[in-house]
Amino acid sequence: MPAASSAAVIMTVGVLALQGDFAAHSVRLAELGAEVVEVRYASQLDQVEGLILPGGESTTNLILLDREGLWARLRDFAGQRPILGTCAGAILLAREVTNPSQPSMAAIDMRIERNAYGRQIDSSIRLVQPEQAFADRTAEGPLEAVFIRAPIIRSVASGVEVLLRDKDDPILVEQGRHLAATFHAELTSDPRLHQLFLSKVRSN
Ligand code: GLN
Repeated sequence: MPAASSAAVIMTVGVLALQGDFAAHSVRLAELGAEVVEVRYASQLDQVEGLILPGGESTTNLILLDREGLWARLRDFAGQRPILGTCAGAILLAREVTNPSQPSMAAIDMRIERNAYGRQIDSSIRLVQPEQAFADRTAEGPLEAVFIRAPIIRSVASGVEVLLRDKDDPILVEQGRHLAATFHAELTSDPRLHQLFLSKVRSN
C-alpha cells in the first residue's frame, strides 16, 4: 500500500478533450499536482484513474464520443472510476435529459433540463453558500459559480447528495464515486471542486 501522505501520490486524471472548455480543467488539475491526460481516444481511458467531462455542447460531444468509440467505453469506466461532469458533462452523466431528450450515461440518478435558465439570463456569475457537507470536505466560505447556458437539475433520487445549491436548485451533486456540477468551477480561482474530485479519485 502507498504511504498515507497524499502529496507523495501522484494521480493521473483524464480530461475529455473532444470539444468545449477542457483546457481550463487541465490547468487546474495540474496546479493541484495531478498528471493530466487529455483523452481523445478510447484506449487512453486505461491510463487514467478519474475523468472530467467538461462543459461545451453535449449534443456535439455525443456525436464525437460515438465516432471515437468512447461512448460505449465510458459506461464501463463509470462503473469503476470517478467522473466529474461539469455543465454539458453533467448532462452526459444524468439518468434523464430533457429540453430535448437525448442519450445519457445514467451514472447519476437525476433529471436535468438543458439550457434551463432561458435566453436572457443564459450566462451569469453567482455567489453561493456551500451546504455544510461541501464545506466540511473542502473549506468554508462562499463559492463563485459561473453559469454558461447552463442546465438545471430538476430532480434527484434518494441516493444522490446535494453539495451545493443556488436558491433551491441543486448545482453540485454526488452519487457514489461521481460528481456533477452545472457551473464552471474551472473558470474561477476557487480550487475546491477539483480538490474534492481529486480526493474521490484518491480514495476510489
Ligand atoms: N447548453 C449546453 C448543452 O446543453 C451546455 C453549456 C455548457 O456546457 N456550458 O449541452
